[in-house]
Amino acid sequence: MRENMSNWNDTIVALATAPGIGAIAVIRLSGTKAIDIVNGVFPKKDLLLQKTHTVHFGKIEFENIVVDEVVVTLYRAPKSYTGEEVVEISCHGSPFIQDSLLQLIIQQGARLAKPGEFTQRAFLNAKLDLTQAEAVADLIASNTEASRQAALYNLKGGFSDDLKLMREKLIKFSALIELELDFSQEDVAFANKKELEVLVHQLQLKTNILLESFKLGNVIKNGVQVAIVGKPNAGKSTLLNTLLNEQRALVSEIPGTTRDTVEELLNIDGVLYKLIDTAGIRQQTGDVIEQMGIDKSKEKIIQADIVIALFDVNTATPEQIHTWENEIGLDKIILVGNKMDLTTANIVTNFNNFKNIVFISAKDKNNIEALKNAITQKVVGDQLKKEGTIVTNARHVSSLKKLLLALNDVETGLIQNVTGDLLALDIRQALHYLGTITGEITSEDQLDFIFSKNTLASIISFH
Ligand code: GDP
Repeated sequence: MRENMSNWNDTIVALATAPGIGAIAVIRLSGTKAIDIVNGVFPKKDLLLQKTHTVHFGKIEFENIVVDEVVVTLYRAPKSYTGEEVVEISCHGSPFIQDSLLQLIIQQGARLAKPGEFTQRAFLNAKLDLTQAEAVADLIASNTEASRQAALYNLKGGFSDDLKLMREKLIKFSALIELELDFSQEDVAFANKKELEVLVHQLQLKTNILLESFKLGNVIKNGVQVAIVGKPNAGKSTLLNTLLNEQRALVSEIPGTTRDTVEELLNIDGVLYKLIDTAGIRQQTGDVIEQMGIDKSKEKIIQADIVIALFDVNTATPEQIHTWENEIGLDKIILVGNKMDLTTANIVTNFNNFKNIVFISAKDKNNIEALKNAITQKVVGDQLKKEGTIVTNARHVSSLKKLLLALNDVETGLIQNVTGDLLALDIRQALHYLGTITGEITSEDQLDFIFSKNTLASIISFH
């Protein structure tokens, strides 16, 4: 165990699945009393006698009242996510059942987990390394189910694995080049410079991809600023309400915020969207604003990551939409034609010159799904579906940038055929920045490589 916590002995419980109605829901307990507590309300068999990684079907009962028929999965310490005794109860997914079960389990001696506490415990039990632990911090700060999942991908070691692979290869070269320095009197070359060149290129590429992923990572972690703009009566507040009714993010999940200071939040496919100036949208009525037109929205547009430009398909002109595209920029804009219910599909041909307009009826809640898809596509593209690491941590970004500079130095050194000691210095620098991310000590690794791995003989080549 890395460190002790004041409330370390508590058994914690929380809903592990997204809140709301679902076919099933999973309630998870972790802590010394986890199995004991569930055993007390699971009369069918004695869970304390069951092995780890086993599944048990039965009823959860308290004072002869059956709460639900459930499946209980046991993970005994240390073979669990947290490293503690863990029980997962799969119950029927009604919020009432979820709530009753949670209440019952709390009544039996568990306490409600804080956000991210399961993962925090996993770290404290040395189940995770430093980068994974940093993902824990992201996780604790994450406020949507999918940002949680993105952080969890990193927790699973996605980021660390990528880095480890890079480091291992670089350490090999660093070790070999330093070995050359020791043998500098003799004319030997342990490291194959061509291979090093290839590796450096690979590392540069990988580092760039990781850096690039931060754009998305940042969005997942911090949310996307969204502005809805459009002329009065275009249907902005109707759309806002339609979206909020369906997708409103649970504000209470966000630490350190209170209901009245928070902007309206949407959770679409797990990405958090922060709607800018929703009060403004709701107040935009009357002729004064009408005259102001889009100017009124300039500030919002600058502030926003994406802009939903809403227009009434029955009154808008292609010229007006062109102006929007120019003012807002194709990167940010999502064109949405509203009030399709008042028109025939033919009107769509008026807007044939524009790609990617989403036609909806905010009032009838028609085609809102397509709008949500368009938003997700704009922000996330296919990146979330792709296998790969998403960097969400600003400190990692800073280290990766420095790493890239160091790699560029190594590259220049190789091109200019600099001496081994200078090359070694640059590689060490690159390793240092990799090390600052993972928290590992590079010099020891080099020693490890030289002395513990028996690969040296097979790599050395005499010239
Ligand atoms: P805002 O000024 O842009 O916020 O527009 P509102 O949301 O207040 O809508 C203006 C009027 O248009 C209201 O009477 C809405 O009921 C109506 N409206 C909004 N969306 C639609 C729609 O999709 N179809 C129809 N028929 N009316 C709509």
